[in-house]
Amino acid sequence: MTHVITSLCIRDGACVEVCPVECIVPGPKDGDWPIFYIDPDTCIDCGACVPECPVDAIFPEEDVPDDFAGDIELNAAFFTDGPGYWAYNLEEERVRE
Ligand code: SF4
Ligand code: SF4
Repeated sequence: MTHVITSLCIRDGACVEVCPVECIVPGPKDGDWPIFYIDPDTCIDCGACVPECPVDAIFPEEDVPDDFAGDIELNAAFFTDGPGYWAYNLEEERVRE
């Protein structure tokens, strides 16, 4: 299982700072991937990112609300079909400090 970032994400980057396996990656801010994403193949389901999110955008996969069900596949697709891991600068990619 994995955790999933939904489209509620406001790109503040707090989750990135606590993930013990560094599996949360922002979509390039000016590109086609508007939020941050969790690599489902690397996430260890620890839940550390959930309380850090100021807008409650992160859910265990089994608890993703129906309205955001499509985000489950998008998180995976970011790593298989999208930018995936890239050499980003978190301070430049986050929207607010
Ligand atoms: S649940 Fe844990 S391992 Fe998975 S993305 Fe969140 S902090 Fe990282
Ligand atoms: S903590 Fe929440 S709002 Fe901030 S980048 Fe992570 S998922 Fe997005």
